[in-house]
Amino acid sequence: MTKKKLIAANWKMYKNPAQTREFFREFLPLVADHTRDEIVVCPPYIDLCAAVEETKGSNVGVGAQDLHWEKEGAYTGEISRSMLLDIGCTHVIIGHSERRQYFGETDDVVNLKLKAALEAGLTPIVCVGEVTEDVLRRQCLRAFHAVSSKKAGRLVVAYEPVWAIGTGKTATPQLASDAHIVIRGEAAKAFGQEFADKLRILYGGSVKPENAKALMSEEEIDGALVGGASLDPKSFATIVKY
Ligand code: PEP
Repeated sequence: MTKKKLIAANWKMYKNPAQTREFFREFLPLVADHTRDEIVVCPPYIDLCAAVEETKGSNVGVGAQDLHWEKEGAYTGEISRSMLLDIGCTHVIIGHSERRQYFGETDDVVNLKLKAALEAGLTPIVCVGEVTEDVLRRQCLRAFHAVSSKKAGRLVVAYEPVWAIGTGKTATPQLASDAHIVIRGEAAKAFGQEFADKLRILYGGSVKPENAKALMSEEEIDGALVGGASLDPKSFATIVKY
């Protein structure tokens, strides 16, 4: 089944609002005619308004890198689903391995955030990616817990093997495909085969202009989540156009 691939940028903790505007002024003309793939950029929170303004009317969407699962409340430093929606975000990354590793984000928290994003109508990009298959399966099982196939509609999963993130080491297309089959299997158990067949599973981990084509040519790979190589407009545009 051919699905529109999603190429998403994760800027992590890089760029301020002025640099964000500068990026889009260079990037948008490079991808203006590109309709084959869906394009989303996820900058830090403080850049979101600038990103939404710059991309208005374009073929590029804007997402956040995280959200809190509660609707509102006394949660200093946190951002809610409605705040993201109100400023024009359409996507949100959930459970990135850096959040799991440095901020103690657990599978249960990922599950709460996934439910919050789905409830709000945001497209969640749920990151999983451990070294062993059983941990990968557990991450999926727990992330999808008590989410019905009816509600999971917009779900996107990103497979990001921890050893490949920011290291310059990339999974081979075959290795990534094999992991995607495992994830699709877990999605089939949770949501049914029809849903799983339609589910977009992205690959992330040192995607670069040089390896994007080989990865994106795999039938099992439905897009990419790109960190470092998405910070430069030319480099990200080359990846988008693989
Ligand atoms: C990421 O942060 O999601 C990522 C895949 O980073 P990088 O492309 O730099 O490995």
